[in-house]
Amino acid sequence: MFDNLSIKLDKAFQTLKGQGRISEINVATTVKEIRKALIDADVNYKVAKEVTDEIREKAMGQDVLTAISPGQLLVKITNDELTALMGGHSEDIKIDGNPAVILIAGLQGSGKTTFSGKLANYLKKQGRSVMLTACDIYRPAAIDQLKVLGEQVGVEVYAEPENKDAVKIAKAAIEHAKKNNHRIVIVDTAGRLAVDEEMMDEIARLKAALNPSETLFVVDSMTGQDAVNTAKAFNERLNFDGVVLTKLDGDTRGGAALSIRRVVDKPIKFMSLGEKMEAIDRFYPERMASRILGMGDVVSLVEKAQEVFDQEEAARLNKKIRKNQFDFNDFLSQLEQVKKMGNMKDLLGMIPGMGKAIKDIDIDDNSFKPIEAIIRSMTLAERENPDILNSSRKNRIAVGSGTSVQQVNQLLKQFSDMRKLMKTMNKMGGGKRALSALN
Ligand code: GDP
Repeated sequence: MFDNLSIKLDKAFQTLKGQGRISEINVATTVKEIRKALIDADVNYKVAKEVTDEIREKAMGQDVLTAISPGQLLVKITNDELTALMGGHSEDIKIDGNPAVILIAGLQGSGKTTFSGKLANYLKKQGRSVMLTACDIYRPAAIDQLKVLGEQVGVEVYAEPENKDAVKIAKAAIEHAKKNNHRIVIVDTAGRLAVDEEMMDEIARLKAALNPSETLFVVDSMTGQDAVNTAKAFNERLNFDGVVLTKLDGDTRGGAALSIRRVVDKPIKFMSLGEKMEAIDRFYPERMASRILGMGDVVSLVEKAQEVFDQEEAARLNKKIRKNQFDFNDFLSQLEQVKKMGNMKDLLGMIPGMGKAIKDIDIDDNSFKPIEAIIRSMTLAERENPDILNSSRKNRIAVGSGTSVQQVNQLLKQFSDMRKLMKTMNKMGGGKRALSALN
């Protein structure tokens, strides 16, 4: 995410490397580079200028005797400015009314339907009773898509495929939700490829008729300044409450994320980083700023782990590790949980300093496939006790998993090293502590 921007900002700060103190000349050069980086990232020109003017002013106002180097100081000031630019603090969605209605608007292809499914899943995990409603009366495929997603996350989807009146469908959905004790109704609406009057009219009528407690505008972040312009057009007509940025996993520039808040004056509330139903995050401006500046985002990483790691399973594994009984079945179970956390490269990028280190390395989610295939080709007895793996068994596993004996041996060696490490940690009494930090 935002790799290009991060690299360019890093280069900008490099111009201050070795400089002992802040001066008008060295700050001017760095600030110019920062502005260039922001404009290259497709940040709105006016916004880029405002932000960099502020960075310069703040840097020049600093006491030259501060303990930190000019480079560190400028990173800190830029971090604060980018945080402010994206809204300063995180804003939650409002859930009022019975049922509370959440209206989802945006262009076709922006990721509305996918996001509706994700939001339903997100709210359901918080213990709320949610229902989805398909109000795209033009594309029957959109109704089917929502039904599939609803089934996937275990949320009821209300639809009337024959009805061509979106307002009537949504009203009937609300009645249905009331009868069935669903407290939140998410209304997925129709989009067009570009902003047009008919679409704006329909979504405005839906908003007026439903009085939603939250209207969210969904936009594809990869479209940069177009995203900002579309947001402006929707906001003028709809006065929405918040923005959802999708496809950030594919956005190397970051222009939409950085300009939309200031241009439209509405908070970004959620971001979406992939196609999986779990790939949804609340938007935290301060965390996003530190990710952009290559400072990582450990808080989100830990939260993600807490969210997807099944507590009971974690406790069971914890116990097995303490008894030195951790086997390949447990390993497989851990692998499954890590995969649920989302895109590997994005996860690694949340570790401070890691984003830059792995920017050119191709880490895809398939990296685990050979490991999984090898473990799945083992019998249960072999998974529990890998010591019984002689060469004929290893051969069978290599053939069965489509890998080589060398890869099987490599995994066995890694697994055995891992077990040794766990044993040592247990002896030192650290294993329990380290694991309970994750629980
Ligand atoms: P809609 O027309 O606005 O309802 O858009 P869809 O929800 O159908 O999404 C359009 C396409 O974008 C689909 O192929 C989705 O799988 C994909 N998509 C949605 N959100 C994301 C995301 O955050 N990341 C990526 N990579 N793809 C996404």
